[in-house]
Amino acid sequence: MKITNLNPDTAIGATAWFVEMEGHRLLMDAGTHPRMEGRAGLPRYDLVKQQELDAIAISHCHHDHVGSLPVAMRHFPHAHVLMTELSYFLVERVLHNSVNVMKRQRDELGLKDYPLYSHDEVDEIAARFQGFKYNREVDWASFHKSRAGFLSPTLEFCDAGHTLGSAGIMVRGQRETLFYTGDVCFQDQTILRGARFEDVKADVLVMETTRGNRERPPASNRQTELARLSEAIERVLARKGSVLIPAFALGRTQEILALLALLMREGRIKRQPVYIGGLGRVFTEIYDLEAHRTHRQYPSLQLREALNLVVLEHGQAEKMKLTGSHIFVITAGMMSEHTAAHTLATRMMGNERHAIFFVGYADPNTPGGHLKAAPKGKPFILSPSGGEVTRHCEMEDFDLTAHADRTDLLDFVGEVEPRTVLLSHGDEDSRDWFAREIHARHPRIKIIQPKSGEAVEV
Ligand SMILES: [Zn+2]
Ligand SMILES: [Zn+2]
Repeated sequence: MKITNLNPDTAIGATAWFVEMEGHRLLMDAGTHPRMEGRAGLPRYDLVKQQELDAIAISHCHHDHVGSLPVAMRHFPHAHVLMTELSYFLVERVLHNSVNVMKRQRDELGLKDYPLYSHDEVDEIAARFQGFKYNREVDWASFHKSRAGFLSPTLEFCDAGHTLGSAGIMVRGQRETLFYTGDVCFQDQTILRGARFEDVKADVLVMETTRGNRERPPASNRQTELARLSEAIERVLARKGSVLIPAFALGRTQEILALLALLMREGRIKRQPVYIGGLGRVFTEIYDLEAHRTHRQYPSLQLREALNLVVLEHGQAEKMKLTGSHIFVITAGMMSEHTAAHTLATRMMGNERHAIFFVGYADPNTPGGHLKAAPKGKPFILSPSGGEVTRHCEMEDFDLTAHADRTDLLDFVGEVEPRTVLLSHGDEDSRDWFAREIHARHPRIKIIQPKSGEAVEV
């Protein structure tokens, strides 16, 4: 089988894998780069656009995996798009939001390429999306060509425990098999339970390496981090301060809302409104609606019933009074300019009563990254529009990742027993850590870190 890495970057970037297996072709994921702008942030579809593609399979609905799907479908107008049924409920919302964000960036940053696709285009392609339950065998190569006598390869979505609908993808041909982890979390989160990658065996393993450069300190685990965050929230609200938790709209927001709901249920914090963004609310509704189909904890916990969720209206972040302990769980993990999270952070950071709590990654070159690195009481530049500011508020970082700890992933390699591992979706030091450790444990496994645009025969 031949696999081409279409990601324009070797780190997390815009995920897209072009797989050729037994005469059939499959594209796994069609992302956009979280930091590269315009067309530069697209996968290298130019390398494969002449080829006939049978299907596109999407691992989950984060932008780095699905954000360029409409562009991919222009190159491959006959390919069907396969995903889990839970992703099917999310994907159109994600893509329409992406059009809105690109339009805003076009206006604010003068990016002429944007939007890379339109609302109409998203509506048109949606007819070709198909959702499947986990652990069903799907014929992906038989949609537009029937080859009498030939059994075509199949694929199966396996619950990856990373975000609603997330999946690892098992591709089975007649002679060989491939497993792609997508983004995976083996540990239970507050809502979602950990990945169910049981009994996965494959000849080739394509694996994420997000946390390869990160050792979890022995004393820290998800439970201790959650306890620390809970106590921190209690502390700030008790002193009548407000709490800002910037979080991505899909996944992290619902995990934090669930924690708040449990704290209120236990009486540890007072019942009060929780301010969220519009997109966060949309995805929270879908988490609630699909609770019964989801492998999760607290299946009867409906976030919209348990919490008084208030969507911040346009301009409200600038005007509303911040005194009297408010809770904000606001979209924009990186705290980009011209967002409510950016506005609230600017307003809150000067007052030591308030707190800003990070629960996920923020790129060092974003306002969120600048703030994370800022020592208390020392002026720093937040962003071009935010200018020089000084932080006096409380600020902390909590490790509530939705990605697998590196030792869990390393154990997983041992279970899969592949002949070849492709490492991706991680910084260079992360990939190198895995390359070293896999080699030390399993010297016979071939380890490849495909470069951007590189095709490897495996
Ligand atoms: Zn993801
Ligand atoms: Zn990702």
